Amino acid sequence: MSTISFQPATTLREPAELAARGLVPVADLPELEKVASRYAIAVTSEVAALIDPDDPLDPIARQYIPSPEELAVQPNEKPDPIGDGAHSPVAGIVHRYPDRVLFKLVHVCAVYCRFCFRREMVGPGKSTTLSEGAYENALAYIRAHAEVWEVILTGGDPLMLSPRRFAEVMADLARIDHVKVIRIHTRVPVAEPQRITDKMVGALKVKGATTWVALHANHVRELTPKARAACAAMIDAGIPMVSQSVLLRGVNDDPETLAALMRGFVECRIKPYYLHHGDLAPGTSHLRTTLAHGQEIMRIMRGRVSGLCQPDFVIDIPGGHGKVPAGPNYVSVEKSFSADREQSAETRYRIVDYCGDVHLYPPVP
Ligand code: SF4
Repeated sequence: MSTISFQPATTLREPAELAARGLVPVADLPELEKVASRYAIAVTSEVAALIDPDDPLDPIARQYIPSPEELAVQPNEKPDPIGDGAHSPVAGIVHRYPDRVLFKLVHVCAVYCRFCFRREMVGPGKSTTLSEGAYENALAYIRAHAEVWEVILTGGDPLMLSPRRFAEVMADLARIDHVKVIRIHTRVPVAEPQRITDKMVGALKVKGATTWVALHANHVRELTPKARAACAAMIDAGIPMVSQSVLLRGVNDDPETLAALMRGFVECRIKPYYLHHGDLAPGTSHLRTTLAHGQEIMRIMRGRVSGLCQPDFVIDIPGGHGKVPAGPNYVSVEKSFSADREQSAETRYRIVDYCGDVHLYPPVP
């Protein structure tokens, strides 16, 4: 694989650099060095500029600035929380569902999110970089599996590749007849929007396959004018976009904040797609909410916010068993009986509206 096109000098990578910018207390440095020895740190200038260093609860800082709380690993947290390894037939490929594969091209990102479910695998010095031979093996696997309709480029962040190398990857995939859709999951338009150049937009489009881009953002403040312009450049070029967010304690775990984010996506022509319950990644319990809290937020959102702004609230079942919807249940079966309870029974449905009121829906005659 070829390498990254550039590394901006302004990206903060060391706890001491964060302290010098007033983004972490100097007193925390010994513990933060321990965090840094295990999990990568990168805070780009775009992200650093969004953080209010005087706000100890800043929702942008909680996503990107390391915390001593990351040293507390819970017994139920796992290095591979969603079980990628159990479904990896060859290096770089995760084949969990029949019609699609994940293709993990790179192990680096523009920023390192403190809640990342692949935090044990991403970052400089990790052993998950694909060699040229492994890349060819991964392509051969996709070629040999005619049921693979969609390839999801993830990582690491695939848009860390140079436009030239990215175009080569897209062409390699589009040459495979049965691959019709290539989906790219990225945080680059938010974290380093200057990478979305005309050349990169050109590289995203390829003959023979349709490109989708999934933008990862968790707070509306991440949708800066530059981030919005980067997304508009892709969408104007004909590339449809969806969103991907994680429900995070102290970042977006209230209906108003989440609604503002989803509305922001729709204003940018990005369809809200997934809202993930936080995965059981090591040292991330301080950022996870309960499932019940997520369901309650989604129930409130359903009534108050346009249907266009509704993401699917999903949970990845630990161990590699896949992703399932985890939102509130509005419909349940209610047994009711006719006047002659001995003779007949019928099924009605109990439907709860967004205000919490219950309605009965009749059975099919
Ligand atoms: S950009 Fe994605 S892969 Fe990279 S650290 Fe953040 S969540 Fe993990």
